Amino acid sequence: MQSTYLPTRQRRTCKSQKKYQMRNKHVTRRSFLQLSTMSIVLASCAAAATSAPQVHLKGAAASVDVIVIGAGIAGLAAARDLVAGGKSVRILEARDTVGGRIRTNRSWGKPVELGAQWIETATGNPLVSLAKSAGVTTTADPENGNERYIDTQTPEQLSGTAIDDLYTLADDIISAAIDSAGGTDKSLRAAINQVPAYKSLNAAQKRRIESMFAQVIDDDDAVEAELLSLNNYDEGIDAYRGGNLFVNNGYEGIPQYMAKNLTIEYNISVNRIATDATGVTVSAGSKTWRAGAVVVTVPLGILKANTITFSPALPAAYTAAIGKLAMGVLDKCILKYDTAFWGTSADTFTIVGTDPHEFYQFIPLNKAVGLPALVAFNAGSRARALEAKSDAQLQTQMATIINKAFGVNKTPTGIIATRWGRDPYALGSYSYIPVGGSIQARRTLATPVNTRLVFAGEAYTESDASTVHGAYNSGKAAAKALLR
Ligand SMILES: Cc1cc2nc3c(=O)[nH]c(=O)nc-3n(C[C@H](O)[C@H](O)[C@H](O)COP(=O)(O)OP(=O)(O)OC[C@H]3O[C@@H](n4cnc5c(N)ncnc54)[C@H](O)[C@@H]3O)c2cc1C
Repeated sequence: MQSTYLPTRQRRTCKSQKKYQMRNKHVTRRSFLQLSTMSIVLASCAAAATSAPQVHLKGAAASVDVIVIGAGIAGLAAARDLVAGGKSVRILEARDTVGGRIRTNRSWGKPVELGAQWIETATGNPLVSLAKSAGVTTTADPENGNERYIDTQTPEQLSGTAIDDLYTLADDIISAAIDSAGGTDKSLRAAINQVPAYKSLNAAQKRRIESMFAQVIDDDDAVEAELLSLNNYDEGIDAYRGGNLFVNNGYEGIPQYMAKNLTIEYNISVNRIATDATGVTVSAGSKTWRAGAVVVTVPLGILKANTITFSPALPAAYTAAIGKLAMGVLDKCILKYDTAFWGTSADTFTIVGTDPHEFYQFIPLNKAVGLPALVAFNAGSRARALEAKSDAQLQTQMATIINKAFGVNKTPTGIIATRWGRDPYALGSYSYIPVGGSIQARRTLATPVNTRLVFAGEAYTESDASTVHGAYNSGKAAAKALLR
């Protein structure tokens, strides 16, 4: 695939409008391509709809019409639409709460997001009105990307223009790498290493550019460029446009609002799904439920770990598709202090140490949430390695970086650290396409397996994969397929 535009998928942590605008200078061609792609996809969906087997819920020996496995945003969206369509629905959820990878921690008296933080590409995004209905408040990311960049090695602080130049160079290098896609797949890193503008950088310049790659690649895909498929890096559909919204008062408000009036059984970890001529039997240990059809919204990590046995086995195309996608890890370490000694002048800090891919970005919570805390991000292999450390070790490591960057000697008063890679009901943060993988895998998994079995969730969609709204729309599509 040849392109001269940038990957515009929204950044999980670099949410400044400035970066968004910068990336969107390339958007015109991409939008056109996306619209063309979307028309093709819609046309093929329409064709599939006429030939796809229909789900016959009536007459099935079922206790409910549909069982939805998982009460994350995808499962809730599917369940709501199925109920609205007149179906009886039961959700089986492994955790003791709804939301899945939307999880708000309130142990410090203010909302701290352990999973999703932003409603991305807000223009046209259905989550915006859902948030309003749920009483969830948001703040637009600042127009001009209020950012500070601190290189602790030189040491040096970069100004707005110098930061802009770094982003532009990073984007140019990534664009050039994408332009070299095609033929036998290789990693995005292998392509970046061949870009003349990258090769010509000295070690210090490379360190800074790598800190930008960490923000635009590692964060976004929850993995480093070394493992990302070059040929698929820029694939996928962005359904919406516009800047991102920072959720202030608890993202969990959205799934909690959606869950109202739905029937949900908690602490049920499903381990078997058996379809037969008349329905589906879903099991969790010795407990069983019967339904006409099932929507499976468990994260890709759960499917890859074969936690759930399918009977009959999934068709080969589906098992192959599961193998052609991978689960990345993005973790947060959040340190709380007595006071927000970093002030209110910046909305994000880039801090570059010896490894520019570790503890590279810090989001203050004092302005948006009223908490004197800093959120740091780690992705991919770094995140997986850091998950093995204790909270005390992580606190010391992060506090040392912060003290060096700000020239202070402060002791945090608390730490919250996520370990999404070890979360038994997620086994990762969100999906990516690895070298040798394919966007087709997402399309396959988005197609109903048969009249009784449909997948939904962030990994099983080519539109806005790895986002909350992508998962939401995927859940709605699954419900539509069953109601059709
Ligand atoms: C750290 C982090 C930051 C993120 N930041 C953003 C962001 O800013 N913006 C954004 O748009 N997206 C973000 N995302 C991604 C977003 O959170 C996810 O894409 C989305 O929430 C996934 O929703 P889902 O319904 O597909 O899956 P989940 O939310 O994972 O729901 C699946 C449900 O299935 C349950 N389950 C698992 N196994 C079983 C089983 N065997 N039986 C029964 N139930 C089971 C799980 O407990 C879970 O509740 C972030 C994710 C992480 C981890």
